Amino acid sequence: MGSDPLGDVRYTGYRRKLIEEIRARGVDDLETLQLFDRVPRHIFLPEGVQPRAYEDNAIPIGYGQTASQPSLQAYYLSILRPTEDEKVLEIGTGCGYLTALLAMMADRVYSVERVRELSKRARKALDAFGVKNAALLVGDGTIGWRKYAPFDVIVVSAASPSVPKALVEQLADGGRMLIPVGSRDIQELTLVKKSGSAVTEERVGGEVKFVPLLGRFAWSEEAGA
Ligand code: SAH
Repeated sequence: MGSDPLGDVRYTGYRRKLIEEIRARGVDDLETLQLFDRVPRHIFLPEGVQPRAYEDNAIPIGYGQTASQPSLQAYYLSILRPTEDEKVLEIGTGCGYLTALLAMMADRVYSVERVRELSKRARKALDAFGVKNAALLVGDGTIGWRKYAPFDVIVVSAASPSVPKALVEQLADGGRMLIPVGSRDIQELTLVKKSGSAVTEERVGGEVKFVPLLGRFAWSEEAGA
């Protein structure tokens, strides 16, 4: 994988600045920071917003969805720390940027997105970046992806009223999951861990605001699609 597959050096300086911002927000895990230097966020975004790719902000990607704020994604990664022999399930592929970051850390990434067009675009960007270990599915991620379960790490990038039961079931022994839980307006990041038959839930970090998780075990699709 090249560090900038499009040979576009215009963005290199901006990327360094983004990494400084992520550090300033409290993530100082070196391995995580290096990943943000290696994955070009702009190729995952629609053309019109590419110049904003290295702002530490959520960016609109169409279909009422947003690419999450990079420092928040860095925080996710620094807590979950998937390793090169682990399987990851991601719910909410969106633009595919976090998918690419996860794919560089883990053995394989399985990512579910409900909006077909977003999944298609993410596939294109992942292919352009040379990611070979990510499988994408269009569907309702609140029911997980049973075929490839159990997963060592589950990353949910959309807000849920509670922790979907199917996802807990598909978590491996020793596995961990991060999911924003709360109302449609505001959520708390929740870390779920499984050890044998014991499942623990812990709030980590402050309040966050994600787009809603729409599906069978979250909010109904009609209300917010
Ligand atoms: N990590 C992504 C986040 C995108 S926002 C990025 O940085 O681009 C969250 C995504 O979750 C949206 O694309 C939305 O369509 C998707 N989503 C919402 N409910 C879902 C569900 N039940 N299953 C799969 N994806 C869902």
